[in-house]
Amino acid sequence: MKSISIFNNVLGPVMRGPSSSHTAASVRIGLLGRRLLADEPVYAKFTFDPSGSLATTYRGQGSAMGLAGGLLGMEMSDEDLVRSEDISRQIGLKIEYVVEDRGDTHPNTYNVLLKGSTGKEITFKALSTGGGIISLEELNGKKVADDSEYINSLLPLPPEKSPSMPFRDIYEIKSMVGERGGQLSDYALAWESALGGVSEKKIMKLAVSVADLMKDAITEGLGGTEYADRILHRQSHLLSGKPPVGELIPADLNNRIIQSVAAIMETKSSMGLIVAAPTAGSCAALPGSLLTVAETVSKSEDEITRALLAGGMIGVFIAQKGGFAAEEGGCQYECGAASGMAAAALTELMGGNAAMSMNAASMALQNSLGMICDPVADRVEVPCLGKNVMAAMNALAAANMVIAGFDHVIPLDEVIGAMQEVGNAMDHKYRCTCKGGLSVTNTARKIHRKLD
Ligand code: SF4
Repeated sequence: MKSISIFNNVLGPVMRGPSSSHTAASVRIGLLGRRLLADEPVYAKFTFDPSGSLATTYRGQGSAMGLAGGLLGMEMSDEDLVRSEDISRQIGLKIEYVVEDRGDTHPNTYNVLLKGSTGKEITFKALSTGGGIISLEELNGKKVADDSEYINSLLPLPPEKSPSMPFRDIYEIKSMVGERGGQLSDYALAWESALGGVSEKKIMKLAVSVADLMKDAITEGLGGTEYADRILHRQSHLLSGKPPVGELIPADLNNRIIQSVAAIMETKSSMGLIVAAPTAGSCAALPGSLLTVAETVSKSEDEITRALLAGGMIGVFIAQKGGFAAEEGGCQYECGAASGMAAAALTELMGGNAAMSMNAASMALQNSLGMICDPVADRVEVPCLGKNVMAAMNALAAANMVIAGFDHVIPLDEVIGAMQEVGNAMDHKYRCTCKGGLSVTNTARKIHRKLD
């Protein structure tokens, strides 16, 4: 059983930057290196295998920025993160990047050499496994069997050593839901409090703070953002005005959801603070749909918080099977996962029980299988904005269909299994390598040349 946590792995990290599996994970790898070295770093060399994602994306998707920030001791919410490479140059920390064949099998493998000011030197190998989560595989040439002593202190809710869990996985929760009923948030609260060894009250408090950060990201985006190194400029405000030509199709709630999703994506691409949900690339579908629907139907803070946790529980099931790395299974692991989480959250928000929330997640995920990852110009903006919008709309449809009594046919556990099978079969060029799909169109190449 993988003890995946809602706050450690699904609704978080709270971060700045384009990508959780690149920027946020890199901050953590930099911080980890700094701690392992136990010295002020003066030299760092990062080696990436040419077969992986990092070889082509380490600059555009913010790994270089994150690694420099982590080595300097910055957290991933630090306002100075965007200047981390400049700062490291100013203080004499030399960082080199090398692409060479290392025989790495994981697409997000970091081979690291660090030297400190007093002459200390270490090597280590770390992986980014999606949504900002990292693992330590080797230290100074030796395999690390259990990395929890190194990794847990980097997490917002350090897990208990041997937690007594209320259920182990989606199969056990399925039979419990059949016997006891209840809402999915009841199970999410029991899961997360057992894993972290804290009260359910504390879990609710943490979830409120996550929801508040999500609301702030919408407000910040709607207020207008600016950032030079991005493809898309401010657009979220366009849906509230009158179009220069034609009229908007009457779909008030849908249009306001699109607006909220776009606002969060604009905050993300201008280095504002966002909650990866479950990743930075897919950070807008869940909050954009949940918070906008909640406002429309006047739901309380308690109801919103519980719905968010219900969405988080779906993320736990997905992460137990496959994780959230587009490098491993394409955008179905990011925006697809976000859509399933949002469908469950919306269903719970509208009074649906645990079985209904899981069925809505199943329906939304069924519609997301096979989504490739092909970002334009290495920026997590195009087609990521559209995919977040699609994920939010899909979630709304799935929730309403289940609440109305539609049949989802395939159970959630089987859909998650199919998602993994599709991910494994997906061609390398469609897994966040910028080597296929929209990434290699003429226009994408032109944009890339212009931005780099
Ligand atoms: S296409 Fe999807 S998975 Fe790829 S970067 Fe964009 S949001 Fe992330």
